[in-house]
Amino acid sequence: MSGRFDDSRTAVAHAARRLAAEGLLIGTAGNVSVLVDGHVAVTATGAALAEVTLAEVTVVDRDGSVVAGELEPTSELDLHLGVYASHDATSVVHTHAPAATALSCVLDELPCIHYQQLLLGRAVPVAPYATFGTPELASSVVAALEGRSAALMANHGSVTTGPGLDKAVENALLLEWVCRLYLDACVLGMPRSLDTDQQAAVITAAVERKYGSTRPRTEKET
Ligand SMILES: [Zn+2]
Repeated sequence: MSGRFDDSRTAVAHAARRLAAEGLLIGTAGNVSVLVDGHVAVTATGAALAEVTLAEVTVVDRDGSVVAGELEPTSELDLHLGVYASHDATSVVHTHAPAATALSCVLDELPCIHYQQLLLGRAVPVAPYATFGTPELASSVVAALEGRSAALMANHGSVTTGPGLDKAVENALLLEWVCRLYLDACVLGMPRSLDTDQQAAVITAAVERKYGSTRPRTEKET
């Protein structure tokens, strides 16, 4: 029997399987959601994320009441709902990805070491530690995400957001890449950071050149 929320439940399941295949979601650790038409489709607690299906994606309203699905939503539901209540994002990805989680155990902030990081909003803050699934953790992560689409959660993992599921997934992959880069660079010495002028110049150049999108070549570009 098909239901009203099948498309968003299917999309969340697909995103979770992709993140598991990329090594960012491990076992049952992590969760994914999307906000569509005032409802949130979110992975169920305890779901094996590498094989998650539509039936393991629960739909709740903005207050967290279940409107579709047989399973309990993720224990981090408050975090997802808090992001939607406070920010423009329409998708949230939470992972225990290896490089991000390693840095979350050490750093207070991941400095801006590569210009691609600007897509996440410059330096990545580390939200203070609190027990998983608590309102304290949800509110510190929501605060850390102010003005940016990525944060680390101290001694826990990472969270990314996006305007849509694809972007939140892309941001999760980019954050893990930056964290891995930082770890690799640390083997050789203390990584340099881009200063504010260098960051501003990247933003100017990216806007001018429409960075990240294809464009028809001009006569000069052969
Ligand atoms: Zn977690």
